[in-house]
Amino acid sequence: MKLTVERTVLAGFVIVLGLLGTVGVVSQRTIIGLIDDSKWVTHTHIVLELLQQASFRISQAEADVRGYVITGDSAFESQYEAIRRQIPDLISELRTQTLDNPAEQSNLALLESLISKRLETMDEGIRVRKSRGLPAILALGSTGRGRQLSVEISTLTAQMRADEDRLLSDRKRRAELSARRAFLVVLSALIVAMIAVIGSVVLVFRDLTRRREIERMKSEFVSVVSHELRTPLTSIHGSLGLLASGLLGTVSAKGERMLEIAVSNTDRLIRLLNDILDIEKLDSGKIEMRSIQCSARELIDHAIEVMQPMAQSQQIGLKVEDSELLIRADRDRIIQCLTNLLSNAIKFSEAGGTVRVVAKPAGEDARFEVSDHGRGIPEGKRNSIFERFQQVDTSDSRKRGGTGLGLAISRNIVEQHGGKMWVESQLGKGSTFFFTVPLAQKHNSDLQPSYVDSVDTVRTERERNAETHPAD
Ligand code: ADP
Repeated sequence: MKLTVERTVLAGFVIVLGLLGTVGVVSQRTIIGLIDDSKWVTHTHIVLELLQQASFRISQAEADVRGYVITGDSAFESQYEAIRRQIPDLISELRTQTLDNPAEQSNLALLESLISKRLETMDEGIRVRKSRGLPAILALGSTGRGRQLSVEISTLTAQMRADEDRLLSDRKRRAELSARRAFLVVLSALIVAMIAVIGSVVLVFRDLTRRREIERMKSEFVSVVSHELRTPLTSIHGSLGLLASGLLGTVSAKGERMLEIAVSNTDRLIRLLNDILDIEKLDSGKIEMRSIQCSARELIDHAIEVMQPMAQSQQIGLKVEDSELLIRADRDRIIQCLTNLLSNAIKFSEAGGTVRVVAKPAGEDARFEVSDHGRGIPEGKRNSIFERFQQVDTSDSRKRGGTGLGLAISRNIVEQHGGKMWVESQLGKGSTFFFTVPLAQKHNSDLQPSYVDSVDTVRTERERNAETHPAD
């Protein structure tokens, strides 16, 4: 499979999409993982806090029992009872919080039994103090059982806290590691995506430059060939015209007919070459629009004068409506547009029809309208006819002598004036072609006198006729 620029760019696009998808998935997983890890870290902190509270409560209970034994003050006893009631809740909370950890659960079972034994010894102490007095309790304390249980409890809680501390640092390390890994994945995916995007841009840019160069060479070639063909064709056309006129001797009726066909075909060929040269010049920007203040009515009259012979030969009436407007435009180019539109309107009208031309103000523009009552244009073709070599019917060029370039040239000229060209039409009833050009600004200092011709001009219809009919 050949690796074209389109395919490479598409592949680059797919890679970038894939990488962005990966970045999305990795980021989502990392965020979920980080939330999970932070939950575990908080959870470990809670367990540590509960263990701390358990040791603190036991020490408090011991202090209260000691206070009661020494003083016999019942306030110590009630404080002890209050703490004793809190201890089961603490143990049960610890059990819930360490459900995920079997080792801590068995430690907790041991802690619970040690605490309950220690509470029993303290209960016993209070009972003995109450019933038999201080000396009896002193005798009981000498066994050292209570102290031993306290030591065991604090050793076990210290061990459980150490386990939880280890878990905490493990969880923190894991969270850091997964965050770093995710960062690396996202970073490398972004770097690759950036390389793919930059690569695609460079590729497209190089391809565009290459295409532009090919386009330039192609249009230069077309222009040179058209130029080279036009001169001999004009001379052939002239010679054929002379022969057909009978000035060089008489020809048979059949010969005359052949000459007529030859003249009309060379005529068409020259028109085509002229149109190709015009559109090439307009496209390549070789033609500069020389906008000056001119009268819309004068341009319309000029175009009508040029097209009158054609209209008469086809029995079409040309009518101008009130068009007294001053516009700012390139006179010759606008006359060229008007003659193109008039020539089409005449070509596609029935004998006896009328073509109407008018220029009206439309905001800051003048809107020219050329209407006919001809065959109309199907809806699907109303845009495409402005493209090069596009015709409603492929036989139009053969039957009516068109090139399919007139509207493309006209629209290009209008757009170079900053205007628009479009058509409205009803099939079988007729068409109206519109185009806009700017109205002349009053008091504009750079208004120049009319009739400044550019060096490299597009020919007006009159000039084109003169070229194709040099003998006229
Ligand atoms: P050409 O007239 O030389 O073929 P154009 O670009 O001027 O080229 O016109 C393109 C096509 O648009 C014509 O061939 C014709 O099919 C259609 N068209 C243009 N003007 C009219 C009109 N007034 N009525 C009907 N069809 C038209």
